Amino acid sequence: MTVTLAAPAPQSRMGGDTGEVTVSAPRLEEVACYLCGSREYRPFIHAEDDLCGTPGRYRFVRCSNCDLVYQNPRVTLDAIGAYYDDAYIAHRKKRDWGLLTPLFERAMNKLDVDKQRIVARHVSLTPASQVLDVGCAVGSFLAHLHRHSGARVTGVDFKDLASAATMRDVEFHCGLFYDANLAPDRFDLITMWHFLEHDYDPMRSLATARRVLNPDGTLVIEVPRLDSRTFRWFGDRWPGLQAPQHTALYDRDTLLRAVRKSGFEVIEYLPYGAFPAYFYLFTGAAFRLLKGRGLKLDKAIVPYFIGQLLTLPLTMFETRLNLAMQTVVCRRAA
Ligand SMILES: [Zn+2]
Repeated sequence: MTVTLAAPAPQSRMGGDTGEVTVSAPRLEEVACYLCGSREYRPFIHAEDDLCGTPGRYRFVRCSNCDLVYQNPRVTLDAIGAYYDDAYIAHRKKRDWGLLTPLFERAMNKLDVDKQRIVARHVSLTPASQVLDVGCAVGSFLAHLHRHSGARVTGVDFKDLASAATMRDVEFHCGLFYDANLAPDRFDLITMWHFLEHDYDPMRSLATARRVLNPDGTLVIEVPRLDSRTFRWFGDRWPGLQAPQHTALYDRDTLLRAVRKSGFEVIEYLPYGAFPAYFYLFTGAAFRLLKGRGLKLDKAIVPYFIGQLLTLPLTMFETRLNLAMQTVVCRRAA
């Protein structure tokens, strides 16, 4: 497979963008609105790969019909896998951070604990429970749930991370969620932690979730929140843009409409998530300074933890300040 990473998009497809056109065109494709199917849109914002620093400039548009913000054109599905390499934090396996390893591991463990805390607001898991995590990466959240409740755990991810130690007790399906062979009405709990904003067909994934969720089951979705303070502060360097991996950017309204349109009723909406808002405060500030050169997180780990202490007066109120994340808890609508 030849993957073209480097070239800025040709002008004709980027609507007045002034980026130079280089030899090989990137694999980009026009896409209709994920939520309503309209092809009418207005420009919203341009973004770069601020996290890893790969070259390219990507356009997000706002649907003229339903207001969903989505990347258009987008990198084709067969080419996007290359952007999910080892530098990409969501798929990081355990590694050595030297003296800071315990601190880093505690932060990762805290993420799983906070996910469990959100789930526990609505679901009591037992060894008979069936849990599915969509976009499970190395499966540490599932391993955590299994360890604490005995629940049977299943994960889906398009990257094959089955060899990770945390996957030992996970029934793993490699591939796209809607292609996975999962029985209808099977799961008591389905979680999507930062999955939907990466999805190439979110409505199809939500329909799949409705099909494999049992009638009394619970669906938990966390995504970055576009109508949040950090977006207003960082603009085109907002970490939630995460181009080119993020296909759509949800505000409160478009997220709620997406789940309702897919046959779910909303049980609870939270203006925060398990994922720490501080990560967006730190990386947003860094992206502003670095201007698309990419952030070497292993070199930034000391300032990262120092900043975490300094911003504590702000982040200790993150469940109330609408800083960066949002979570919706749903059941199947009658
Ligand atoms: Zn639309």
